[in-house]
Amino acid sequence: MPLKLIRDDITRVRCDAIVNAANNSLLGGGGVDGAIHRAAGPKLLEECRTLNGCETGEAKITKGYNLPCRYVIHTVGPIYRDGQHHEEELLRSCYRNSLALAKEYQCASVAFPLISAGVYGYPKGEALKVATEEITSFVMDHDMLVYIVIFDAAAFSLSSKIYTDIQEYIDQNYVDTHTDSISERKRRSKYARHEFSMPFFSQNKKEQAADSCEADEAVGYAPVMAAKEESLEDRLKIIDESFSEMLLRKIDESGMSDSECYKKANIDRKLFSKIRSNPLYKPSKPTVLAFAIALQLPEEECEEMLMKAGFALSNSSKSDIIVRYFISHGNYNIFDINDALFAFDQPTLGV
Ligand code: ADP
Repeated sequence: MPLKLIRDDITRVRCDAIVNAANNSLLGGGGVDGAIHRAAGPKLLEECRTLNGCETGEAKITKGYNLPCRYVIHTVGPIYRDGQHHEEELLRSCYRNSLALAKEYQCASVAFPLISAGVYGYPKGEALKVATEEITSFVMDHDMLVYIVIFDAAAFSLSSKIYTDIQEYIDQNYVDTHTDSISERKRRSKYARHEFSMPFFSQNKKEQAADSCEADEAVGYAPVMAAKEESLEDRLKIIDESFSEMLLRKIDESGMSDSECYKKANIDRKLFSKIRSNPLYKPSKPTVLAFAIALQLPEEECEEMLMKAGFALSNSSKSDIIVRYFISHGNYNIFDINDALFAFDQPTLGV
């Protein structure tokens, strides 16, 4: 389902299939093609010889041999001339045909290099845009995890205008102070635990709490004064709506279906089911942000949703400032946000 940008050497990525940016002969070459053949061993070339080459924009599949993947999908990207020779159309068809093959061979995960963006000369920013658009539209309808593997830092560049804008926004907003509200909350939770103990909670709640990674925050521990039963009852009444409850309410209010929402959030269906079935589920911060973006929440509501899970947007975190930049510009496209986070070496949102 989700799309993930990673920085790596594609020959080391563990997934069902990796895609090779090959040439028409399929008999090996330089760049990523050479690296894949070296890592797979000579049997890959033997099998490639039986395939009779491949047209530009088409894709063919072989086994992975010594690579840590089951298959290699070989596709031939266009050589970039001036953008007027069907380059974009051909590049899009490389992604479509490769993804169709991955689906036909029941791959649950597949990794792409930036096809044509090396010696074939396709401008890197545009090559990434085509890759992101084609993969995003595919993963919206298919249960597949797709990686775009960026090999070298220079291979990745946001348009310089966006990059400069974001850099300025970070410079204006970044404060070099660190307020550790989470550890503070944890300290207070410990304190609260001394004040009253688990028997006040039903067995069921305890079990759910154990399932959830940071359940102590989710069940609403807070410093309370007396361990008297009436006051605890009062306390329990005002326990806030949990993150999971708020998420489901917001999805209903937005008119989106659950699946529309988790796809827009670049979140895996299984993770969404876990969150839906456990009102005390404690998500990670990137997961909360991914949902807040999918739901197009304004900044205050985004903060409220984060708070439900024990987090906040902070001006001492670059990634938070970048997310804020996009929210304040009304751009809720998670893939644009992830491109920017990636360009600034920050963890991306969603799965
Ligand atoms: P093309 O001929 O299609 O341009 P190249 O192999 O020259 O193919 O480059 C395609 C992209 O693959 C480039 O962005 C290049 O930086 C990248 N690349 C090269 N080696 C690797 C590797 N081992 N893993 C991932 N990406 C790689």
